[in-house]
Amino acid sequence: MSVLLQATNFQAFYGPRQVVFGINFEVPEGAIVTVLGANGAGKSTTLRGIMNEVRTRGDVVFDGQRINGKATESIVRLGIAHVPEGRGTFVDLTVEENLRLGAYVRRDRSGVAADMQRMYEYFPVLGSRRSQRAGMLSGGEQQMLAISRALMSRPRLMLLDEPSTGLAPLVIQDIFKILETINREEKVSMLLVEQDAALALKMASFAYVLETGRVAVSGPASELRESDSIRRSYLGY
Ligand code: ATP
Repeated sequence: MSVLLQATNFQAFYGPRQVVFGINFEVPEGAIVTVLGANGAGKSTTLRGIMNEVRTRGDVVFDGQRINGKATESIVRLGIAHVPEGRGTFVDLTVEENLRLGAYVRRDRSGVAADMQRMYEYFPVLGSRRSQRAGMLSGGEQQMLAISRALMSRPRLMLLDEPSTGLAPLVIQDIFKILETINREEKVSMLLVEQDAALALKMASFAYVLETGRVAVSGPASELRESDSIRRSYLGY
């Protein structure tokens, strides 16, 4: 499997304050990789750094090309989509308008229309609510919309920031099942930040555990899942 995203000596800063300290990680093409760790460990910041929304140092190479310092829009065009924590849907716009915004980097109108239909197949509830304001949706539906909006840019890599937060267990199950389908059928690779380590380790093939901006442990997800000491020390379950 070739490497789709590779970060080397990756550092991130808010103003003068450094919060990620020279970490290395990679996402193989087609894989689901998870980043775990306690609140404040630097997981969200790492995703923002890849999108160049915070100041970074080190190297981030996507599909053979160094992307540090590129405008976020160019990074989206190259094939990375970010589903931020808190979802970032536009609550005053309709479901359909939100999806169109996700396709803003594309010019192929018929492809956009076809993809919108595909999103409604993945998430039928969005189809039936396409004309409603996003603000009227439930938390789970908003998460579905955020994922669909990201997919509308036709990414090769999706950065998902805590998609399970605040959702009921059954809704979480539904959403994660669809993410797996999208990974398998559309070959979208995923870098998944999650609070729910057990859930993330079931879905991912490889995991990194961050502790105050450094990688404390990394390895195949199955190994982390099976190690009682890692589970107890780092994953809290
Ligand atoms: P969480 O699950 O709480 O989001 P996280 O692992 O994603 O945790 P980050 O949000 O990346 O952690 O935060 C890493 C550090 O950066 C924390 O110390 C946090 O206080 C700080 N931080 C996060 N956002 C900002 C910001 N906008 N300005 C300044 N510091 C920030």
